[in-house]
Amino acid sequence: MAKEALKIWMELSADIRNKILSSVWCPACATVVAMCDYNINFDGGVVVLRGCCATCGHKVVRALEGCGESSKRTSKCVLECYIFDVWIWGTEGVEDFKDKVLRKIQIAGTKSLYNFAKVITQAFGFRFDHCFGFYDNFQRYPDSTKAYELFVDVGEAPPTQITKGVKKTKIQQAFKKPGEKMLFLFDYGDCWYFAVELKEIKNAQKSDTKATILESIGKAPLQYPPCDDESQ
Ligand SMILES: [Zn+2]
Repeated sequence: MAKEALKIWMELSADIRNKILSSVWCPACATVVAMCDYNINFDGGVVVLRGCCATCGHKVVRALEGCGESSKRTSKCVLECYIFDVWIWGTEGVEDFKDKVLRKIQIAGTKSLYNFAKVITQAFGFRFDHCFGFYDNFQRYPDSTKAYELFVDVGEAPPTQITKGVKKTKIQQAFKKPGEKMLFLFDYGDCWYFAVELKEIKNAQKSDTKATILESIGKAPLQYPPCDDESQ
Protein backbone atom coordinates (compact mmCIF):
# COMPACT_ATOMS: atom_id res chain seq x y z
CA MET A 1 0.00 0.00 0.00
CA ALA A 2 2.68 2.47 1.05
CA LYS A 3 4.68 1.50 -2.01
CA GLU A 4 1.79 2.28 -4.33
CA ALA A 5 1.17 5.60 -2.60
CA LEU A 6 4.83 6.44 -2.91
CA LYS A 7 4.72 5.62 -6.61
CA ILE A 8 1.81 8.00 -7.18
CA TRP A 9 3.61 10.66 -5.21
CA MET A 10 6.82 10.26 -7.18
CA GLU A 11 4.90 10.54 -10.44
CA LEU A 12 4.14 14.14 -9.59
CA SER A 13 6.72 16.61 -10.79
CA ALA A 14 9.38 17.69 -8.31
CA ASP A 15 8.01 21.16 -8.58
CA ILE A 16 4.54 20.12 -7.49
CA ARG A 17 5.89 17.90 -4.76
CA ASN A 18 7.90 20.80 -3.35
CA LYS A 19 4.90 23.04 -3.55
CA ILE A 20 2.80 20.55 -1.61
CA LEU A 21 5.47 19.98 1.01
CA SER A 22 5.97 23.66 1.58
CA SER A 23 2.32 24.54 2.04
CA VAL A 24 0.90 22.43 4.80
CA TRP A 25 -1.41 23.73 7.45
CA CYS A 26 0.00 23.44 10.96
CA PRO A 27 -2.72 23.62 13.62
CA ALA A 28 -0.17 24.56 16.27
CA CYS A 29 1.38 27.42 14.29
CA ALA A 30 -2.05 28.25 12.83
CA THR A 31 -0.43 28.98 9.52
CA VAL A 32 0.93 27.33 6.42
CA VAL A 33 4.29 25.71 7.02
CA ALA A 34 6.70 23.28 5.43
CA MET A 35 6.43 19.59 6.27
CA CYS A 36 9.44 17.51 7.19
CA ASP A 37 10.09 13.89 8.18
CA TYR A 38 7.06 12.79 6.23
CA ASN A 39 5.84 9.40 5.21
CA ILE A 40 3.35 8.53 2.52
CA ASN A 41 0.46 6.17 2.74
CA PHE A 42 -3.07 5.48 1.63
CA ASP A 43 -5.87 6.61 3.83
CA GLY A 44 -9.37 5.88 2.60
CA GLY A 45 -8.15 5.55 -0.97
CA VAL A 46 -6.37 8.89 -0.91
CA VAL A 47 -2.65 9.48 -0.80
CA VAL A 48 -1.84 11.09 2.50
CA LEU A 49 1.40 12.64 3.65
CA ARG A 50 2.06 12.63 7.36
CA GLY A 51 4.97 14.46 8.88
CA CYS A 52 6.06 17.20 11.18
CA CYS A 53 5.82 20.95 11.00
CA ALA A 54 9.27 22.26 10.09
CA THR A 55 8.70 25.22 12.38
CA CYS A 56 7.38 23.69 15.58
CA GLY A 57 7.47 19.94 15.12
CA HIS A 58 3.71 19.48 15.51
CA LYS A 59 2.21 16.62 13.51
CA VAL A 60 0.85 17.75 10.18
CA VAL A 61 -1.12 15.95 7.51
CA ARG A 62 -1.78 16.60 3.88
CA ALA A 63 -4.08 14.64 1.63
CA LEU A 64 -3.74 14.69 -2.13
CA GLU A 65 -6.99 14.88 -3.95
CA GLY A 66 -7.40 12.70 -6.99
CA CYS A 67 -4.10 10.98 -6.45
CA GLY A 68 -5.67 7.73 -5.38
CA GLU A 69 -6.71 6.91 -8.92
CA SER A 70 -3.92 7.14 -11.39
CA SER A 71 -6.16 8.72 -14.03
CA LYS A 72 -6.44 12.10 -12.38
CA ARG A 73 -3.29 13.96 -11.72
CA THR A 74 -4.40 17.06 -9.91
CA SER A 75 -2.26 17.76 -6.94
CA LYS A 76 -4.80 20.15 -5.54
CA CYS A 77 -4.94 19.65 -1.88
CA VAL A 78 -8.11 19.27 0.08
CA LEU A 79 -9.42 19.26 3.53
CA GLU A 80 -12.31 17.13 4.54
CA CYS A 81 -15.52 18.69 5.66
CA TYR A 82 -17.77 16.73 7.94
CA ILE A 83 -21.48 17.32 7.70
CA PHE A 84 -23.54 16.49 10.75
CA ASP A 85 -27.16 16.47 11.71
CA VAL A 86 -27.39 17.59 15.30
CA TRP A 87 -30.74 17.58 17.03
CA ILE A 88 -32.02 17.95 20.53
CA TRP A 89 -32.72 14.48 21.71
CA GLY A 90 -34.03 15.28 25.14
CA THR A 91 -33.29 16.39 28.63
CA GLU A 92 -32.09 14.13 31.39
CA GLY A 93 -31.78 11.20 29.03
CA VAL A 94 -35.45 11.03 28.10
CA GLU A 95 -36.21 11.35 24.43
CA ASP A 96 -38.77 14.07 24.95
CA PHE A 97 -38.41 16.31 21.92
CA LYS A 98 -40.96 15.01 19.48
CA ASP A 99 -40.66 17.89 17.05
CA LYS A 100 -37.22 17.84 15.66
CA VAL A 101 -35.04 20.77 16.48
CA LEU A 102 -32.19 20.16 14.15
CA ARG A 103 -29.12 21.94 12.87
CA LYS A 104 -27.12 20.72 9.92
CA ILE A 105 -23.54 21.64 10.65
CA GLN A 106 -20.53 21.59 8.39
CA ILE A 107 -17.13 21.58 10.03
CA ALA A 108 -13.59 20.56 9.12
CA GLY A 109 -12.75 17.05 10.25
CA THR A 110 -9.49 18.30 11.68
CA LYS A 111 -11.27 20.41 14.28
CA SER A 112 -11.30 19.14 17.84
CA LEU A 113 -14.40 17.82 19.57
CA TYR A 114 -14.07 20.81 21.88
CA ASN A 115 -14.39 23.11 18.92
CA PHE A 116 -17.30 21.09 17.59
CA ALA A 117 -19.09 21.31 20.94
CA LYS A 118 -18.71 25.07 20.85
CA VAL A 119 -20.22 25.23 17.38
CA ILE A 120 -23.11 22.97 18.40
CA THR A 121 -24.02 25.02 21.45
CA GLN A 122 -23.82 28.23 19.44
CA ALA A 123 -26.02 26.72 16.73
CA PHE A 124 -28.75 26.21 19.31
CA GLY A 125 -28.23 29.59 20.94
CA PHE A 126 -26.81 28.04 24.08
CA ARG A 127 -24.02 29.52 26.09
CA PHE A 128 -20.86 27.46 26.10
CA ASP A 129 -20.74 27.49 29.85
CA HIS A 130 -20.80 23.91 31.05
CA CYS A 131 -18.89 20.69 30.94
CA PHE A 132 -19.81 18.19 28.29
CA GLY A 133 -18.96 14.90 26.70
CA PHE A 134 -19.56 12.77 23.65
CA TYR A 135 -20.78 9.21 24.19
CA ASP A 136 -21.86 6.27 22.08
CA ASN A 137 -24.44 5.02 24.55
CA PHE A 138 -27.59 7.17 24.49
CA GLN A 139 -29.44 5.29 27.21
CA ARG A 140 -26.64 4.90 29.71
CA TYR A 141 -23.77 7.18 28.83
CA PRO A 142 -21.47 5.93 31.62
CA ASP A 143 -21.57 2.54 29.89
CA SER A 144 -20.32 3.94 26.59
CA THR A 145 -17.61 2.11 24.72
CA LYS A 146 -16.50 5.37 23.14
CA ALA A 147 -16.41 8.49 25.29
CA TYR A 148 -14.78 11.89 25.15
CA GLU A 149 -15.05 14.27 28.06
CA LEU A 150 -13.89 17.74 28.90
CA PHE A 151 -13.13 16.48 32.41
CA VAL A 152 -10.19 14.57 30.99
CA ASP A 153 -8.72 17.72 29.48
CA VAL A 154 -9.05 19.68 32.68
CA GLY A 155 -7.04 17.03 34.45
CA GLU A 156 -9.65 14.95 36.19
CA ALA A 157 -8.96 11.26 36.12
CA PRO A 158 -11.02 9.66 33.36
CA PRO A 159 -13.88 7.58 34.79
CA THR A 160 -12.98 4.68 32.53
CA GLN A 161 -9.96 3.58 30.55
CA ILE A 162 -11.63 4.36 27.28
CA THR A 163 -12.55 7.96 28.08
CA LYS A 164 -10.49 10.45 26.13
CA GLY A 165 -10.28 14.21 26.11
CA VAL A 166 -12.17 16.51 23.75
CA LYS A 167 -9.38 18.95 23.09
CA LYS A 168 -6.91 16.41 21.79
CA THR A 169 -9.46 14.40 19.84
CA LYS A 170 -10.29 15.50 16.35
CA ILE A 171 -13.71 15.06 14.82
CA GLN A 172 -12.21 12.73 12.23
CA GLN A 173 -10.86 10.51 15.01
CA ALA A 174 -14.21 10.21 16.77
CA PHE A 175 -16.34 9.84 13.64
CA LYS A 176 -15.13 7.48 10.97
CA LYS A 177 -18.01 7.04 8.57
CA PRO A 178 -21.42 8.47 7.74
CA GLY A 179 -24.21 7.01 9.82
CA GLU A 180 -22.20 7.08 13.02
CA LYS A 181 -24.08 8.64 15.87
CA MET A 182 -23.03 9.93 19.24
CA LEU A 183 -24.71 11.49 22.16
CA PHE A 184 -23.52 14.98 22.99
CA LEU A 185 -24.29 15.58 26.61
CA PHE A 186 -24.05 19.21 27.58
CA ASP A 187 -24.30 20.37 31.16
CA TYR A 188 -24.26 17.50 33.64
CA GLY A 189 -26.64 19.46 35.82
CA ASP A 190 -29.46 20.28 33.41
CA CYS A 191 -28.51 17.38 31.12
CA TRP A 192 -29.15 18.50 27.60
CA TYR A 193 -28.95 15.56 25.28
CA PHE A 194 -28.11 16.15 21.65
CA ALA A 195 -27.92 13.47 19.01
CA VAL A 196 -25.01 13.97 16.63
CA GLU A 197 -25.01 12.00 13.42
CA LEU A 198 -22.34 12.15 10.75
CA LYS A 199 -24.15 12.39 7.41
CA GLU A 200 -21.42 13.00 4.91
CA ILE A 201 -17.70 13.55 4.50
CA LYS A 202 -16.76 15.65 1.54
CA ASN A 203 -13.73 17.29 0.13
CA ALA A 204 -13.66 20.98 0.73
CA GLN A 205 -11.83 24.00 -0.41
CA LYS A 206 -10.01 25.98 2.19
CA SER A 207 -12.77 28.57 2.17
CA ASP A 208 -15.36 25.97 3.22
CA THR A 209 -13.62 24.99 6.36
CA LYS A 210 -15.12 27.56 8.63
CA ALA A 211 -17.85 25.87 10.61
CA THR A 212 -21.22 26.64 9.04
CA ILE A 213 -24.82 25.94 9.83
CA LEU A 214 -26.22 24.66 6.57
CA GLU A 215 -29.77 24.16 7.70
CA SER A 216 -31.83 25.06 10.68
CA ILE A 217 -35.06 23.24 11.52
CA GLY A 218 -37.25 24.11 14.46
CA LYS A 219 -36.89 26.67 17.17
CA ALA A 220 -34.35 25.86 19.81
CA PRO A 221 -35.63 25.72 23.38
CA LEU A 222 -34.28 28.23 25.84
CA GLN A 223 -31.28 26.97 27.70
CA TYR A 224 -32.47 28.82 30.76
CA PRO A 225 -36.26 29.21 30.61
CA PRO A 226 -37.40 32.29 32.53
CA CYS A 227 -40.05 30.31 34.43
CA ASP A 228 -37.36 28.11 35.86
CA ASP A 229 -36.98 29.58 39.32
CA GLU A 230 -34.25 27.18 40.26
CA SER A 231 -31.05 29.13 40.84
CA GLN A 232 -28.52 28.54 38.11
ZN1 LIG B 1 3.92 24.31 13.54
